[in-house]
Amino acid sequence: MTRIAVVGAAGRMGCEVVRAALEDESFELVGGVVEPGSEALGSDLGELCGWGKAGVAASEDPPDDAEALIEFTTPGATAEHLSYRRPVVIGTTGLSDEQRTSIEEAARSVPIVLAPNMSVGVNLLREVVLELSGKLGAGYDVEIVESHHRNKVDAPSGTALLLARAVAEGRGNELDEVAVYGREGRSPRQEGEIGIHALRGGAVVGEHRVVFYGSGEEVEVIHRALSRRTFAAGALRAARFVAAAEPGLYSMRAVLGV
Ligand code: NAD
Repeated sequence: MTRIAVVGAAGRMGCEVVRAALEDESFELVGGVVEPGSEALGSDLGELCGWGKAGVAASEDPPDDAEALIEFTTPGATAEHLSYRRPVVIGTTGLSDEQRTSIEEAARSVPIVLAPNMSVGVNLLREVVLELSGKLGAGYDVEIVESHHRNKVDAPSGTALLLARAVAEGRGNELDEVAVYGREGRSPRQEGEIGIHALRGGAVVGEHRVVFYGSGEEVEVIHRALSRRTFAAGALRAARFVAAAEPGLYSMRAVLGV
């Protein structure tokens, strides 16, 4: 049994993790953190997330007995919460370089899993994309297209960047040197560039396409998340891992052993 607390417990992902933890006997939900001043403070976490009474109240700070925290908030809140100095699974995306550096520093004294996508499928897809990129080589033009619901604030998605880094790594490039984010006006394709495009609308949970365009063939891989539960399940798996891990910064590859 792993005792967890969810940070950002009133959000879309936070609530999905709350429900998933309440339905899994190998986890005990011991707390949920909501924004300071939020109306949700003190409410029952199960009721807050449409699950039914859970007997655990939303609070401003995580309880001391949580063995792992699961954080899905905003980049600013995630950086502030590093002061908790507790084993944590971070799912928040859109982090700046500076916020990432703070996470790396915090991971010297506590275990942290940082994963822009917690699904098993996307993390395996990353391995496939790495191999395709290396083996197809620079003669293939790569474009990445992602779609998300209308409320997503960061673009491109953390997952698109994860996949783009895999393409760049497969070819021995640095993503920053070859990434092109959208195109407008006169913008002919340069050799070796990786085009990254973001669509936003409706209720799309998350779709990622990576296309390798050759002269005589196209290779396309697609991942579609059909429910946030897939991310919540991955987050719980990562929480079990981080609760038992030594200090350090881990990715989902370490959690899944891929
Ligand atoms: P959301 O807006 O529904 O939820 C964010 C929640 O964080 C809100 O309830 C907000 O009140 C809360 N919050 C903000 N500041 C806080 C603070 N200081 N303390 C406590 N709570 C605070 O967003 P969402 O769709 O749940 O997504 C959250 C993040 O997770 C985004 O960055 C998103 O891209 C990312 N995400 C990651 C994965 C993954 O697999 N890693 C999957 C889906 C979403």
